[in-house]
Amino acid sequence: MFYQCPKCRKIWQYPIEKCPDCFLKLERMKSEKIRVIGVSKVQIPTMFHPEVPYFVLVLEDENGNKWPQKSIKEYKIGDLFKMEPCTDKNSVAIWRIKYDILEAIEKVIELLGGAMRTPSSSSPSLPSEARCLKINSQTKILILPTLISPKHPYLAVNTNPKFLESLINYLTKIGGETKNIKVVAQSFDEIPIEASAQKSQLLDVCLKNQITPLDLAKGNFVKKNQNGLTFEISEEVFNSNLIINLPILKLAPHQKNGGGLGVRGASENILKFLKKESYLSLQRLRSQDSNPPAARGAQTKVWEGGGRVGVPAFGGAPEIMEKLQKVLPNYLTLADALTIQKADGFTALLGLVLASFNSLNLDRVFAEITMIKGLPEYLKKIKIEDIPIVGRKVEEVQYNVEKVG
Ligand SMILES: [Zn+2]
Repeated sequence: MFYQCPKCRKIWQYPIEKCPDCFLKLERMKSEKIRVIGVSKVQIPTMFHPEVPYFVLVLEDENGNKWPQKSIKEYKIGDLFKMEPCTDKNSVAIWRIKYDILEAIEKVIELLGGAMRTPSSSSPSLPSEARCLKINSQTKILILPTLISPKHPYLAVNTNPKFLESLINYLTKIGGETKNIKVVAQSFDEIPIEASAQKSQLLDVCLKNQITPLDLAKGNFVKKNQNGLTFEISEEVFNSNLIINLPILKLAPHQKNGGGLGVRGASENILKFLKKESYLSLQRLRSQDSNPPAARGAQTKVWEGGGRVGVPAFGGAPEIMEKLQKVLPNYLTLADALTIQKADGFTALLGLVLASFNSLNLDRVFAEITMIKGLPEYLKKIKIEDIPIVGRKVEEVQYNVEKVG
């Protein structure tokens, strides 16, 4: 993505608000036809690029704009650089955020099949019925960010407000109306959700866009059964046409007693659609299932994670996680992996957006990218080789976050 002044035609590689000479708002220039004009092979691994060999390509678009790109696949000079979308519902799209979150969101959606009304000519060559997002002015959209603690955005505990804002911009660009967008959250502990909404700055984003945030706890819940388990799920879920799970991804403290939870993010965020009591009783069930009686006392207490996370982890709840997916309508996960929290509470820059209609697969890919070994039970079963991955390759963006950061 490049940015051009409509008057003097000067071009920038990053979004500045206005042309410093003409004071006009820059226009976004999408690259449609990209060719490889330079290739160099890298054989020496570094901390941020542990996988070798890889290639650094110099790419050029039809407007003569050039930029470098890392690639695991070898290209020759003159090759067309193109990424085909994958409409398999189990696929996971990975894209790098350079400066512009909106661009990265557009890109991952395109990689999953695109939106029905895609802005400009950027749509992939798919017929509109095959597109993954069908949005018009009537579409009722439900957005569930991670909102668990009254913390500032830089701590990367809650979904970044810029990420939510970029998503809202994107949705209105492809035909959605803000009056049909609901941003929802719920507290599962003693912290009032209003306090978290305010401090996280997610509330500001909602108000700025005339969206009233909704506390799910104040609404109704419906019972759904799946193989002997009862879930009480917010009726908002069943009253909307499109559900977007908008978690921030993070690395979790390793639990003793073999919990081994390494990542927390997409699948865990979706638990916020449950009624609090339903969530807590499932949590108790989980700890009875997965721990020997001796360890039970320690495990059933609410895991506080230094007060950063505040809700218990569903580390060993294979059946619960999978069964919940079956009672929920199809939903899109768009995951914020720009700055991620590590197990020690510090943050690391990962600079990614991940998207999928399968949140378990998305979490599994995130674990692979961050080279986390101790996976929760519900992710252990998923083989990374079985997941169709589109956009950037895992090897291109992978580094050992815990070790390096
Ligand atoms: Zn200008």
